[in-house]
Amino acid sequence: MDDLNRFAHDLPAKDPRITVRRAGPPDPAGTCVVYWMQRAQRGVDNPALDVAVEAANELGRPVVVFFAPVPFYPHANLRHYRFLAEGISDIAESLKRRGIGFVLRRFPEHSLVKFCEQVKPSLVVGDENPMREPESWRRKAARKLNLPFWTVDADVIVPSILLEKAQYAAHIIRPRLQAQLGRFLVPPKNARARVPWKKPEGLSSLDPKFDITRGWPLDTSVGPVASFRGGTNEALRLLQHFIEHGLSTYGTNRNRPECDGTSRLSPYLHFGHIGPLTVALAAQGADVPKDDKDAFLNQIITWRELAVNLVRFNPNYDSFDCAEPWAHRTLATHSRDERPVLYSESQLENAETHDRLWNAAQRQMVTTGWMHNYLRMYWAKKILEWSPSPAQAFEIAVRMNDKYEMDGRDPNGYAGIAWSIVGKFDRPWFERPIFGQIRYMSGASTGKKFNSKAYIQQNLFQ
Ligand SMILES: Cc1cc2nc3c(=O)[nH]c(=O)nc-3n(C[C@H](O)[C@H](O)[C@H](O)COP(=O)(O)OP(=O)(O)OC[C@H]3O[C@@H](n4cnc5c(N)ncnc54)[C@H](O)[C@@H]3O)c2cc1C
Repeated sequence: MDDLNRFAHDLPAKDPRITVRRAGPPDPAGTCVVYWMQRAQRGVDNPALDVAVEAANELGRPVVVFFAPVPFYPHANLRHYRFLAEGISDIAESLKRRGIGFVLRRFPEHSLVKFCEQVKPSLVVGDENPMREPESWRRKAARKLNLPFWTVDADVIVPSILLEKAQYAAHIIRPRLQAQLGRFLVPPKNARARVPWKKPEGLSSLDPKFDITRGWPLDTSVGPVASFRGGTNEALRLLQHFIEHGLSTYGTNRNRPECDGTSRLSPYLHFGHIGPLTVALAAQGADVPKDDKDAFLNQIITWRELAVNLVRFNPNYDSFDCAEPWAHRTLATHSRDERPVLYSESQLENAETHDRLWNAAQRQMVTTGWMHNYLRMYWAKKILEWSPSPAQAFEIAVRMNDKYEMDGRDPNGYAGIAWSIVGKFDRPWFERPIFGQIRYMSGASTGKKFNSKAYIQQNLFQ
């Protein structure tokens, strides 16, 4: 085996985060290593970028990041695109510090294949995203690129391939994840590129401050929000604030929507402006009570990676069909139950229900792009109660969640909706109308757990 063949074999063989999409030795005549940035939109703490840098340093080549947003990400609207665009200058800044090139293009100049024809890389590295559309783009790239192409599972802590199959509950996945943390919950390398990138004469790239959404035919019905500003710098600021002021009371305050008790990092994790490794390492190293730390790590590791597992291993992740047989049975048994209250999708969308708490939660989502976790569960369960069928309830919840939440269109969203509406990752509870054995949440019991009046008041005029 010659050196290049050995290298192409050894690096992926020792790192389970790497999937070889197109095998073969790096082209010895190649001028660089390309990192095709899609999901992990950051220049620091990015395992996919680290693999590209390691490969480029080994090959004695520079690294260039190719980032080319398109206006047709499924279900994305102006709210999401504005947040994505706000993150671009932070990416450019971090890459510059590491001696890595950055080429920013946008639709219709977004072709990775054309870019590779222009810069002639030795190897292309991408990142992973279990959602079906981006996965199909990666498969297409693997067919079209005439080069070795690897992808790296950069937005989970434990590579999702190591879980091998669908995991049915948090208590099942937790020990499997825990067993791998010693190996994977470690600080990223963030190495510098040994050979700095010099942009070839005439190679086109947009200025990182250019508004990539300008002139695009985007869905503008959902506007940008002032509550979140995209980017790695803002994500790191929020993380630090949370570690200093929120983590030590997380165990109790995380279920109190009227308090600012959670990190609000979900949009940043969704867009890859920050990685779960950065967040979990910061929490792990914090000087706070063990129960609070464990409660937070349970969310960012166990529940988040259970959601990724759902999307990776269940093709029905965003529909009612992802339910377990017991849930299908119990919901079918209750499909003809009388529904005393029914709302249309537009009544729900406009927060026109009789339930003030639910309306407040809906308003929080529509106007700020975020809803508190505790209320997300209540919100989805009420959609089940007020819709003609569980399948319709699932569809409506997915549509509204993906449309308005800044962190929408994410594995966590599908898993959360599935947990609430079809009892995914939960167990059968007591039989009751409409819900059957799906866990129920009443307004009265929900209201006792926290100061719902304060929460309603906060969201009254949103
Ligand atoms: C019906 C429903 C819909 C949801 N939709 C989404 C969605 O579209 N996008 C999304 O990211 N999350 C979603 N969640 C999960 C959860 O509500 C949010 O991740 C959390 O509220 C985000 O706030 P935070 O960043 O302050 O969380 P924190 O409490 O600070 O937790 C830190 C991180 O841990 C992860 N996490 C926390 N809770 C959960 C959970 N229950 N499941 C999986 N991961 C979790 C998230 O990545 C979160 O950012 C949904 C949950 C439900 C019940």
